[in-house]
Amino acid sequence: MNTINRRQFIQLLGGASALASSFGITACSRQPAASGRVVIIGGGFGGATCAKYLQRFDPKLDITLVEPKQQFVTCPFSNAVLGGLRDMNSISHGYQAHEKRDIKVIHAMAQEIDPAGKKVVLDNGKTLEYDRLVVSPGIDFRWEDVEGMSAADAETIPHAWNGGPQTVIFHNQLTAMPDGGVVIIAPPANPFRCPPGPYERASMIAHYLKQNKPKSKILILDAKSKFSKQPLFMQGWEQLYPGMIEWVGGTQGGRVTRVDPASKTLYSELGEEHKADVANFIPPQKAGAIAHKAGLVDSSGWCPVNQRTFESTVHPAIHVIGDASLAGAMPKSGFAANSQGKVCAAAIVSAMGNTRMPDPSYVNTCYSLLSPDYGISVAAVYRYAADKGIYKVEGSGGVSPMDVDEEFREKEARYAKGWYASITSDTWG
Ligand SMILES: Cc1cc2nc3c(=O)[nH]c(=O)nc-3n(C[C@H](O)[C@H](O)[C@H](O)COP(=O)(O)OP(=O)(O)OC[C@H]3O[C@@H](n4cnc5c(N)ncnc54)[C@H](O)[C@@H]3O)c2cc1C
Repeated sequence: MNTINRRQFIQLLGGASALASSFGITACSRQPAASGRVVIIGGGFGGATCAKYLQRFDPKLDITLVEPKQQFVTCPFSNAVLGGLRDMNSISHGYQAHEKRDIKVIHAMAQEIDPAGKKVVLDNGKTLEYDRLVVSPGIDFRWEDVEGMSAADAETIPHAWNGGPQTVIFHNQLTAMPDGGVVIIAPPANPFRCPPGPYERASMIAHYLKQNKPKSKILILDAKSKFSKQPLFMQGWEQLYPGMIEWVGGTQGGRVTRVDPASKTLYSELGEEHKADVANFIPPQKAGAIAHKAGLVDSSGWCPVNQRTFESTVHPAIHVIGDASLAGAMPKSGFAANSQGKVCAAAIVSAMGNTRMPDPSYVNTCYSLLSPDYGISVAAVYRYAADKGIYKVEGSGGVSPMDVDEEFREKEARYAKGWYASITSDTWG
């Protein structure tokens, strides 16, 4: 009973090596290199992390990262740009560190995936062959579900739910708005990218307005009847921005059913009209377009995956991670995508080396800044079980307490900045 055969021993060794590496430990007995070709679509939180850790776990792999942007602008801390706390440069990250690790970075869009032929066709005319493919394209918008507005109208009514030009448009509109203006933020129903994001956004805009345009107001027309860290946000708003932010829940008339971009008017389900000086309509979401084109999605619009390895349950040898995937209890966050990128890298190296990796565990913390010195958070640890997929570990993490002093909130604001520095260094550094 206590003896194990040679094959089981090699499997254990391989699994231990992958696990050790995922915690930043260099194992002395690295498993034999599994040479093979891995292509990764998307150089955001999920894809860039996965590429880096694949190379770490098996330096002999031939890894190609496909990402159109030369500089990735993060959504995390883009709200701080709207609040005037950061500039765009400080939330932009390049791929030099990946190139130094001999990861091939191709700045192009993946146009087609051929799962049977194991090929990816790029918009620059090139075709890449793979043994394993990782798809981490983030989100796309369900414009088809929005009456009166299309993707082209995002120039007038920015969603700013992808970092980059949309953040700049939104920022410029806020700085051009007269004092006394009304900013409307309209968050979508669940599930969507970054559940606390719209409310951190309201806080950061309020911080900017309080200093520069104190007669202005923020109206949140929410499709939902409750939201992430709600009591903490509301407590903070009352303390920091009394009377400036009004939240209307879905059943009270918050659900927006039509938008008129020309007049910046949002119409609610109850027939009310709300005219904005600056409108931020955040459309309902689905997995990034390439996932739909490749048939990786189910009827929910997101990608079902094996919860242990992130391999698609539709097409073998293709793994989907990050926001695009259906990852059990995990939220759609950058930290979650980073965590999944590492597990997916271990799963691929194990699969290619024909070893079994140990059951994974994951972490997520979402910090939100309410002002430069006022932070709150929600954290959790997740594990995998065959009968329930990825589940939240009971008693792990939790939200910040309600009754604490200023120093506690100030510390969490500092941790938020520390988190950003460390996750971006882990992903792109
Ligand atoms: C305002 C806001 C604040 C946020 N704050 C936080 C936070 O504080 N903490 C946190 O953890 N998360 C936060 N998030 C969420 C976080 O940004 C996302 O969850 C994260 O980016 C998801 O990673 P991803 O790899 O799935 O997608 P992304 O990071 O969006 O990366 C997808 C990449 O794929 C590329 N791509 C798409 N299609 C193709 C294709 N066909 N070919 C090649 N490349 C392609 C895109 O160009 C993009 O670079 C925030 C989000 C928002 C909107």
